[in-house]
Amino acid sequence: MIYKSRSVPLEIDGLITLERRIAQDHPIRSDIARRIYNMKAGYSGERQYDRYISEFKPSYPHAIMHDVCLKLDGIYFQIDSLLITPSKIVISEVKNLAEKIIVKTKPLQFIKETPNGERFPFRSPITELDRKIHLLRVWLSQMQIDVPIEGIVTFAYNNELQFEETPPVDLIFTYEIAAYLRNLKIERDMLNRQTIHKLANKIVSAHRPFNPFPLVERYSLQQSEIMPGVHCPSCNQLTMRWMNRKWKCLICNHLGRSEHQNAVREWFFINKNTITNQEFRKFTLLDNRHTAQYLLAGIPQLQMVGKSKGSFYKIT
Ligand SMILES: [Zn+2]
Repeated sequence: MIYKSRSVPLEIDGLITLERRIAQDHPIRSDIARRIYNMKAGYSGERQYDRYISEFKPSYPHAIMHDVCLKLDGIYFQIDSLLITPSKIVISEVKNLAEKIIVKTKPLQFIKETPNGERFPFRSPITELDRKIHLLRVWLSQMQIDVPIEGIVTFAYNNELQFEETPPVDLIFTYEIAAYLRNLKIERDMLNRQTIHKLANKIVSAHRPFNPFPLVERYSLQQSEIMPGVHCPSCNQLTMRWMNRKWKCLICNHLGRSEHQNAVREWFFINKNTITNQEFRKFTLLDNRHTAQYLLAGIPQLQMVGKSKGSFYKIT
């Protein structure tokens, strides 16, 4: 049974927003584009994994949780997918890379090779798995649960895999996951149905998603480097202006009434987790503070804190 499914990381939305609000020649532009590409690829690989694992329907009690982020003594660790069975826990590290993958041992090294033969080492998913298994073991021991934890790395089906030696952890293709899990040996019942259910609920309620916002801090950007304006969903420019009680695009004439809501969402992604009337006007290129007040008051998720000059808004 699936106790937690996966959703699109908000960071992708945040980065797309940031990308259109920095100058064309900004030095971090390529970093952001690469990060968006990697995150989208990662997410699509994970969705594929989720589809394949849905074919895994064992007769024994079990729990599946996708994208779990736990915290242990101030350290966050994120698990792509976690399966609890009566005799062990299996965590998966899901990789979705386009290149050929070469795995060297002694020392263990993962290398991706592009079609034109260029080679780049990348962080070993086995080392990442070992770290997560260790942290999860300590996390579980605090609940007096001691159960073996195994790890597995899955790669996209189109990867060509080349091993110099058998790696210490099973590396499989994502589409093999259901078959792989069906062959798991469930030797003893260390966890019964009720314990599995309780543990899964505990893990889900302990899940703390990583918050990458605000992005100005992450990328050391000044607020002055962020372009203001309300985004036009039709022509994709920051060209909407408030006139005659509507948002109107100066380029394509698209009309709307709620585009400022997205602008505020973008503000929280990029700048900081509060917004004042003045900041809102500057960001949406609006002159009138009363109009700004009216628009801000109409956003259901916003709550005003304080009175008159010192007031600001935050997400409830
Ligand atoms: Zn437009």
